[in-house]
Amino acid sequence: VKPFRHNCPDWDFMQIGLSDIEAVGCSCYRGIPDADELYELRSKELDELNKRKEETC
Ligand SMILES: [Zn+2]
Repeated sequence: VKPFRHNCPDWDFMQIGLSDIEAVGCSCYRGIPDADELYELRSKELDELNKRKEETC
């Protein structure tokens, strides 16, 4: 189940949920505590991915 699944205008109306990494580029549900929690998790994930990329370079 993908929470907050929607066709995101920030992603050309691609269907994403806040459990997808794409949620970092989405601001549709900002201000909703449950959603903000997921946004934060995704941005941490992205930080981790970027760190790993730097390490392999
Ligand atoms: Zn969105």
